[in-house]
Amino acid sequence: MFESLTDRFDGIFTRLRGKGRLSEADVDEALREIRLALLQADVNLRVVRDFVTRVRDQLVGADLSASLTPGQQVVKVVHDELRAILGGEALRITFAPRPPTVILLAGLQGAGKTTTAGKLAAWFRKQGRQPLLVGADLQRPAAVEQLRILGAEAGVPVFSEASDPVTVASRGLDEARRLGKDVLIVDTAGRLSIDAELMDEVRRVSEVTDPHYTFLVIDAMTGQDAVSTAEAFHKTLALDGVIITKIDGDARGGAALSVKEVVGRPIVFASTGEKQSDFDLFHPDRMADRILG
Ligand code: GDP
Repeated sequence: MFESLTDRFDGIFTRLRGKGRLSEADVDEALREIRLALLQADVNLRVVRDFVTRVRDQLVGADLSASLTPGQQVVKVVHDELRAILGGEALRITFAPRPPTVILLAGLQGAGKTTTAGKLAAWFRKQGRQPLLVGADLQRPAAVEQLRILGAEAGVPVFSEASDPVTVASRGLDEARRLGKDVLIVDTAGRLSIDAELMDEVRRVSEVTDPHYTFLVIDAMTGQDAVSTAEAFHKTLALDGVIITKIDGDARGGAALSVKEVVGRPIVFASTGEKQSDFDLFHPDRMADRILG
């Protein structure tokens, strides 16, 4: 993942490391290359502009007599700024005093929502929690069956009884309370693109379940389209965060590097493959390390 950006940064930093001290021209050249590298990684234009400005401000004011060599100093500033645009600190899930903690998953069809519901259930099981999955995606014919298979794999029951998604969701909440489950994960329907009907359905499911966390599942491979999708959903649903999928197949990284700055909501979890275990909390720090190779 993000291979091209890693390669580009590697080239920039190798050139800087060869220098004993950096002239203003060296800094300008490095900033120009950083800007190009981010643009080629499909990062949002405004995010790139702000990123380069912040890096420049820090390098101009930097104490170059400090313990780091000038080349190392550039690497550190870029690392810290990458971490910042990726969201800073990893989000900690806090649990509702009165269970269950309700998590609503929304997203377009094919983004990986149902797979993510299963992964999230397995992740909570590993934390010693007792989740219940709710299959409120009655749009895609095989979605509930797919969720049942994923639930069985994670050792988590799946509730999907009723013929409309809003009733499924509200009954699912009752069922979680009755069974003493502490986390409720609601999988909702997606569409191929955003439409009023989809938004209305997911908004009504949200109203009856009153989620503690609303996460949008986005496909990293769709780049800036994923970011626009997140902006549109955030207007209707007030997202708490984003779950980014398929970063294993995303050589560029534009969505991951833009979504927090554009939408104002962090990436909370990341999915890196099709297996249930290819999933974890998103750590901006580790991702910044990885990008810088
Ligand atoms: P939904 O329509 O949003 O519910 O999407 P699905 O959960 O059915 O996922 C669509 C496809 O993406 C499936 O084939 C999944 O196996 C695949 N998928 C989901 N997450 C990932 C991921 O992180 N990496 C890869 N490589 N494939 C994924």
